[in-house]
Amino acid sequence: MLRVGFVGWRGMVGTVLLDRMRSQGDLGSLELHFFSTSNAGGPAPDGAAEPLLQDADDTARLGRCDAVLSCQGGAYTSYAYPQLRSSGWNGYWIDASSTLRLDDDATLVLDPVNGDRIRKRLAEGCRTFVGSNCTVSLLLMATAGLFREGLVEWVNTTTYQAVSGAGARKLTELARQISYLGLPHAELERLSSVQVEASVTRAQGADTLPVAEIGAPLACNVLPWIDRAMESGQTREEWKASVEATKILGSESPVIIDGTCARVDAMRCHSQALCIKLSRDIPIDELRAILGSGHSWVRLVDNSQAATLQQLTPAAVAGSLDIAVGRIRKLGMGPEYLGAFTVGDQLLWGAAEPLRRLLGILREQRG
Ligand code: NAP
Repeated sequence: MLRVGFVGWRGMVGTVLLDRMRSQGDLGSLELHFFSTSNAGGPAPDGAAEPLLQDADDTARLGRCDAVLSCQGGAYTSYAYPQLRSSGWNGYWIDASSTLRLDDDATLVLDPVNGDRIRKRLAEGCRTFVGSNCTVSLLLMATAGLFREGLVEWVNTTTYQAVSGAGARKLTELARQISYLGLPHAELERLSSVQVEASVTRAQGADTLPVAEIGAPLACNVLPWIDRAMESGQTREEWKASVEATKILGSESPVIIDGTCARVDAMRCHSQALCIKLSRDIPIDELRAILGSGHSWVRLVDNSQAATLQQLTPAAVAGSLDIAVGRIRKLGMGPEYLGAFTVGDQLLWGAAEPLRRLLGILREQRG
């Protein structure tokens, strides 16, 4: 049985991952040891091989595991990973954070898109596997068929990213903001729509609105800036798209993806509006079929109002593994320009699920 040390299991990504492992019956084929940076000696969750939490800074204990699965965050990886490797440990390090993503030794995992590459890297002796940026993963999940057919010259994406991608504290602050902006039902009945708008706008500007985590009102608002500035004028979130997509796909030449990333007040699904420059003109029905054949989680949505409002929204997709792709049409720029809109659960395919499935590949390799 694969002996796995799990660090960061109570954070947002860790919780979703552990829930998925439980619901998919993975725990029976893993020996799971739980570690903590804050509560060593406390009770371990159900499914643990031993009753107490181990110290996540105990290199010797981590070193007894065949694999360490970390959803703890980049700061932890930055010190724990080199310590463990320099102790001579040659196990599998599996990580949700961005720290090691661009290391030559690390493989980015998104197996419906790059399963062959993951298996090849494993056979070559790779021992470090990292989940990629959630927005990049969801974009490649949506467009896998087009990339596989070599049809993509470049992609321009405008993102509408959920607050869960920014971490637990920001999600909680958004919920506080929403509550702060809300009007009691009785008042809503009494006020005109202009008065309702004025009340919400006034509350957004009030000193008392909680903004310590997010830095600005996000409720009823859009923030077109995620992560830090790069010299190129991009934000780091925008910069990651091309760099990580190139590495995930193992492409010799850069995969060209650029656009504007914005935070919206959705809870856990990222949406993206895509403009794709195709390498050649192909009829729209064929393009739909190619998009639909990307992998078994793609859900094509009819380009109609009813289907779009029912199936192509964060509220409709949240909690499911579906990668919804709709609004598929040729754009007015010319026959080689394809428009689409895609929605995916960023805690599942954007974070937890690729790591869970990597554990499955490791189990499969060990026979
Ligand atoms: P998180 O919710 O902040 O949890 C990380 C750790 O913080 C927990 O494992 C826990 O460690 C500690 N913690 C402290 N107070 C906590 C509390 N009140 N509730 C729960 N945990 C608490 O982080 P995350 O959003 O899961 O992200 C983990 C890593 O994955 C990050 O590197 C992030 O960049 C990356 N990632 C996140 C997403 C996403 O959607 N959020 C997507 C892709 C990648 P102890 O138990 O050891 O104290």
